[in-house]
Amino acid sequence: MSRYTGPSCKKCKKFDEKMFLKGSKCYNNCIVDRQKASRDNKFSGRRRKVSDYAKHLREKQIARFSAQICEAQFKRFYSMATKVKGQTGESFLRFLEMRLDNVVRRMGFAVSLKAARQMVNHGDVKVNGREVSIPSYVLKPGDTININPKIAERLIIKQGLEHADKGSLRPSFLSFNPETLTGKVERWPDRSEVSVKVDEQLIVEYYSK
Ligand code: ZN
Repeated sequence: MSRYTGPSCKKCKKFDEKMFLKGSKCYNNCIVDRQKASRDNKFSGRRRKVSDYAKHLREKQIARFSAQICEAQFKRFYSMATKVKGQTGESFLRFLEMRLDNVVRRMGFAVSLKAARQMVNHGDVKVNGREVSIPSYVLKPGDTININPKIAERLIIKQGLEHADKGSLRPSFLSFNPETLTGKVERWPDRSEVSVKVDEQLIVEYYSK
């Protein structure tokens, strides 16, 4: 299993793309902004020509590192997507988006994917009333999500939920009931609601070779 666990903005640097691996760091202190600023200062018309393969690989890696899963798992999601009706690329991104750890994050229960995954691993998350400790568990419309009431009392989680409410950060394919601290998946996310910003067609091309 090779899930990337190193310093977070190193990956941003490599792909010249904000990867949001550490929650807020990419918003205010990402190396990509600094790199871009220094590039804008310099006059440089030269750009390395990249091969198609490199382009496809890059897009695939951006999506995989954003999801923070290993290649084998990533590929498993892809093959799931090839088996459903509709465009493979879009289905693939939807499946990725509906991973339990990602939904826990987007619901506002956790500030980063890392933190969300930890909650799931620790058995603090219930799906339809049943403990699910697999971060890559794929949710479907109608599923409800609860977190351990003990940890729901923690300040950081309260703040995260408040933040998600206030900033309208919670996407509309998810809903949340603050009284019961229950989240619900209302429907599959639209393409525009998917948090990983990649060109999925390039990923399809990567895997269909
Ligand atoms: Zn960054």
